Amino acid sequence: MRSTQVQQLLEELHAKYADLRDGKVADYIPELSKADPDAFGVVIATVEGEIHEVGVSRAEFTLQSMSKPFVYGLALEDRGREFLLSRVGVEPTGEAFNSIIELEEKTHRPYNPMVNSGAIAVASMIRGEGMSARISRILDMFRRYTGRPVGVNAAVFASERETAHRNRAIAHLMRHFNVIGPEIDLALDLYFQQCSVSVTCHDLALMAATLAKGGVHPLTGERALRADLVRDVLTLMFTCGMYDSAGDWAYSVGIPGKSGVSGGIFGVVPGRMGIAVYSPLLDPHGHSIRGEAVFRELSTRLGLSVFHAGAH
Ligand code: GLU
Repeated sequence: MRSTQVQQLLEELHAKYADLRDGKVADYIPELSKADPDAFGVVIATVEGEIHEVGVSRAEFTLQSMSKPFVYGLALEDRGREFLLSRVGVEPTGEAFNSIIELEEKTHRPYNPMVNSGAIAVASMIRGEGMSARISRILDMFRRYTGRPVGVNAAVFASERETAHRNRAIAHLMRHFNVIGPEIDLALDLYFQQCSVSVTCHDLALMAATLAKGGVHPLTGERALRADLVRDVLTLMFTCGMYDSAGDWAYSVGIPGKSGVSGGIFGVVPGRMGIAVYSPLLDPHGHSIRGEAVFRELSTRLGLSVFHAGAH
């Protein structure tokens, strides 16, 4: 498909789904409830560095759970696959993002790094002397993916930190089962901060395109993650990235994807492109409704599923 046709397709889908007003903005983190329900942006960044964008593509929102695959990649670089696998599994849960059930009733360790329990455990593994060294390393890692400096939205961080009773319970339960060490508050604060990193839809598409290009940013040429670890990250996004609707996403979209309760979703078409959608109206699983609709249609019309014969 030619460049102008891709742009036209994005404009068509944006116009079509702007009318979709189902769902609601996340409000369990009070600061997130301030998001504009009408905000809607779609961006595609190809591995060659071509960008197509439509709608609200340059407004900032927080990564929330979209931070999880990237921080998992950094932890893999820091600690290696064996160490991570010994603490956090790679099995889909079939449960919600903040479920505590599998921890308590089953293996006593997180099923995977895309649910909150696994992500909090992974945050505890990031190397660095104290909080500021660790958060700097995380922010520098995000800079390599976006190609520009990024920061933490202090208001969202404070709001999340204040209301995170469930995440605190998860962390303490993991401490009880020896999944994480004694620095429980540090792990939680790191996790809240990674969730509060502020990006635009344009940034998110480039982050996805960096994963699509084997870990190298399409415009800066800087490596953000080792190529062999990109495979691990994308596999987990594919099987676990959409929580208890991961199967439906794999079936209807067919590419590694990750959502966040701020309303962003990004998807990676390996070797081809990164796609990002921003629209804060969420379904009950915590995924952007317009985001899912756009991904489904883009996947069908552009033949994006990794199982689409002849896709590459
Ligand atoms: N920071 C959010 C939480 O821990 C992330 C949830 C999400 O985006 O799915 O509840």
